[in-house]
Amino acid sequence: MDTNAPVLIGADTLEDLVTRIFSANGCDAAEAGRISHHLLGANLAGHDSHGVVRVPRYVEWQQAGYVVAGQQAEVVTDGGAFALLDGHYGFGQTVAPQATAMGIERARQHGTAVVALRNAGHIGRVGSYAEQAIEAGLISIHFVNVAGSVLVAPFGGTERRFSTAPFSIGVPTDPPVLLDFATSRVAEGKVLVASNGGKPLPQDALVEPDGRLSADPHTLYGEYPPIGPRNPANGLGAIRAFGEHKGSGLAFMCELLAGAFTGGGCSGPVDARGRIANGMLSIFISPRHFGTEAGFRQAAEDYVAWVKSCRPDTAGGEVLAPGEPEARLRAERLAKGVPLQPDTWESIVRCARGLGVTVPN
Ligand code: NAD
Repeated sequence: MDTNAPVLIGADTLEDLVTRIFSANGCDAAEAGRISHHLLGANLAGHDSHGVVRVPRYVEWQQAGYVVAGQQAEVVTDGGAFALLDGHYGFGQTVAPQATAMGIERARQHGTAVVALRNAGHIGRVGSYAEQAIEAGLISIHFVNVAGSVLVAPFGGTERRFSTAPFSIGVPTDPPVLLDFATSRVAEGKVLVASNGGKPLPQDALVEPDGRLSADPHTLYGEYPPIGPRNPANGLGAIRAFGEHKGSGLAFMCELLAGAFTGGGCSGPVDARGRIANGMLSIFISPRHFGTEAGFRQAAEDYVAWVKSCRPDTAGGEVLAPGEPEARLRAERLAKGVPLQPDTWESIVRCARGLGVTVPN
């Protein structure tokens, strides 16, 4: 019997358990539900790296005061079509939807809006904010960084300088086109998943201090126990930026726009308390205000169909639009359950029991 075979948990069961964990950890019911719904949404989209695997770490951060329950994003600057908000280290799943809601509201008034958010707790899967804008019929572009999290070596280097600085663009076609990725070769959470016995990393995902390429999570985390939190501060190596000099350049820009510009700070230097926070610079565009909505949608949908009609490079292969793999997995996992690595499930169970939360059989 394969003892490392994934455990299948129903989406509702998992969402309920994670909600109860955050309630027991001091979040009110609405916030606990938001965090749980967001994390589960990442698993449903197939981004297990940003799903419930994060629960023990979020719980620890809350207990250590690095992330604070019950915060509201505070408006620091309000220019109508642009605004700067401070998340005050509140849960990202609370303050980032607030910033996005403000961007949507302002773009509906002015046609476009730019909203800068700083000092947000981990905002998780950035694509969920692009989805929020898509539901409102808006295009959105999100540059994100992680202040205090230096994990990624720039093109040509072996030392950590960037965060995994994600980037997302959402386009409200039917179905929507949604690009959402870390600018690192792999998201840190994918190293976390691999360290828990999950999907192995590509051979060139990480780099050792001497420049050797590596797929071994120990390069990032150093020594770690089979079950329990991993700490990237213990490793000597780095994740590599994706896409050679071009991806590395996009990561650089995410740091400058989401970190330096918002005032939340770039990836480094690292907060002495080890606290990390996301910054996000979001641009919202309303096609209706530009007067191009009908033509734009038709042209975009025709174009997507034409791109997808491209001859595949392998027999039986298929060209997909950004967002398609996530939509397909979501339907499958809602129907069949969410697969979790046994170690991931075990660490959630331990975390729940530590808080006196009953775990379903
Ligand atoms: P990834 O490498 O899986 O890339 C995902 C993107 O590529 C999606 O847009 C997807 O639709 C597209 N895609 C995947 N396969 C495709 C195919 N065959 N054809 C066409 N398009 C395809 O993502 P990642 O870099 O591992 O990022 C995972 C998640 O981590 C993202 O949701 C990101 O927002 C999140 N993240 C968050 C933070 C943070 O600080 N909050 C940091 C890093 C990453």
